[in-house]
Amino acid sequence: MFKQTEVLIIGSGLAGLIAAITAADNGRNVILINKTDTLTSGSTYWAQGGIIFRGNEDDKNKLMEDILVAGDGACWQPAVEQLVDLGPDLVKDILIDKFNVKFDQSQGHLDLTEEGAHSVRRIIHSKDHTGKAISEAVAPYAQKHKNITILNNHTAIDLLTISHHSTNPLDLYDKPACFGAYIMNNSTSEVFPIFANNTILATGGLGQIYINTTNPSESTGDGYAMAYRAGARLLNMHYIQFHPTTVYGANERFLISESVRGEGGILVNKYKQRFMSKYHSSMELAPRDIVARSIYNEMLETGSPNVYLDVRHLDKDWIVNRFPSINKYLHSFDIDMTHEKIPVVPAAHYSCGGVGVSLRGRTSLQRLYAVGEVACTGVHGANRLASTSLLEALTWGWVAGNTVSEITKEDEYFPKIFDWEDGTEEMDNALIAQDWLNIKNTMWNYVGLVRTKARMHRAQTIFRHLSSEVEDFYRKAKMSKEIIQLRNGVTTAYAVTNFAIEDRTNRGSHFIK
Ligand SMILES: Cc1cc2nc3c(=O)[nH]c(=O)nc-3n(C[C@H](O)[C@H](O)[C@H](O)COP(=O)(O)OP(=O)(O)OC[C@H]3O[C@@H](n4cnc5c(N)ncnc54)[C@H](O)[C@@H]3O)c2cc1C
Repeated sequence: MFKQTEVLIIGSGLAGLIAAITAADNGRNVILINKTDTLTSGSTYWAQGGIIFRGNEDDKNKLMEDILVAGDGACWQPAVEQLVDLGPDLVKDILIDKFNVKFDQSQGHLDLTEEGAHSVRRIIHSKDHTGKAISEAVAPYAQKHKNITILNNHTAIDLLTISHHSTNPLDLYDKPACFGAYIMNNSTSEVFPIFANNTILATGGLGQIYINTTNPSESTGDGYAMAYRAGARLLNMHYIQFHPTTVYGANERFLISESVRGEGGILVNKYKQRFMSKYHSSMELAPRDIVARSIYNEMLETGSPNVYLDVRHLDKDWIVNRFPSINKYLHSFDIDMTHEKIPVVPAAHYSCGGVGVSLRGRTSLQRLYAVGEVACTGVHGANRLASTSLLEALTWGWVAGNTVSEITKEDEYFPKIFDWEDGTEEMDNALIAQDWLNIKNTMWNYVGLVRTKARMHRAQTIFRHLSSEVEDFYRKAKMSKEIIQLRNGVTTAYAVTNFAIEDRTNRGSHFIK
């Protein structure tokens, strides 16, 4: 069996949904695949704080300046210009007017909240579950669209490229190009190709390669690994942003949004001392990398596994109304944030780098695009400004959706491919679990918040060995989502480590002691 479409989109977070809807509204046939069982998936669903819009007395230059400062000299200015030029208008036209996302209002206007390193209040939100509100408003439109075929519960294994998959040896002399992907139906384990004139990667981030992460279980770095194997260029993979505040003691690290600090929350150590003044003049609202490393340092100096976020001085009813999801979650751990300090630790949160793309979302491989967190547009440089990622996913999703709608004859060649060959060995869950632990602990301890040359080289040796073991395992195994994700996780971890070793300058989220 095979399928064919004009546009194949892998991933149904905000970036994938917007790309799919834009292309479909332009009359293109789209197949949208997603490896979870609901369309509202990925980090998008979990986004809390909000999305950048426009503040009072705000302008494009102010926003651009804030992004460039946070990015620590590594942003690509044309990309930042595109974001500030198009982004806020797209929030209005698409999210507010077209999809009627219910952003909070205050005195008849959109409520504007503050987050770290923003010079003005310019972030709109839906309580503290903005991503859920956006996903649930946008996904039904895609679901009903006559030009979109949705395949939930399907996992992309590898991109199809002319140089890797064509049976015609002469194709090697053509320019490298992508013409779809191998997809597995998670329920039946059947693998089949989807041939596409253009393919858009929208697979989100890689947080799951770290032991502590805010990301959902699907963020296993699949898109970076698939792009790398296909020969597309990766950029800035070592710039991993760590969120300063996730709940300590929970099995899965639950994020405490930056807006809690934006609204007046303070950080204290185990001796009840407010410590951020030692590290930065903006205190709790310093750029994320600085707050996260300050917490890390404070934990080391005080010999404590966490610090505390304290909001007890704020109005109690207001807290409960403004942060209902966080309040509810904390209650499930018997923590009442209106009366108790919240124990917090940093966790891997966002990949600032990724598959290098142009202003139109094109990768270095013909007919392959990347949007959202998996892409490196250059907007974030070495450190992302809070609440820019949803805006970037929206902007590049829209731009790429329009770009692939301009399909030309060059995008139409589909070579004959070799038959898919699966392994026969049953999956060994113990091996998979142990390999993941190895990846996650190695990344956390050696390529985490504070890196050293020795730690990074140790990680490189571990991943060199582990990636060949896992590749061997993958070749022999019966296909499953678990083995696909493990293979991608180790490839992505190895890539992050190699980028980290190559860059000897301390910048933004890359910090070598
Ligand atoms: C807890 C949390 C809070 C956040 N808060 C904010 C915030 O307030 N503001 C902000 O701007 N940003 C925030 N972010 C970051 C932001 O949510 C993400 O960067 C953004 O949503 C990424 O969108 P995306 O569409 O690129 O990817 P995602 O939303 O992660 O979607 C990825 C999609 O790809 C699918 N997928 C992955 N691999 C495969 C595969 N092999 N085959 C098929 N499908 C696949 C997944 O199932 C999913 O559908 C937050 C992130 C987290 C985790």
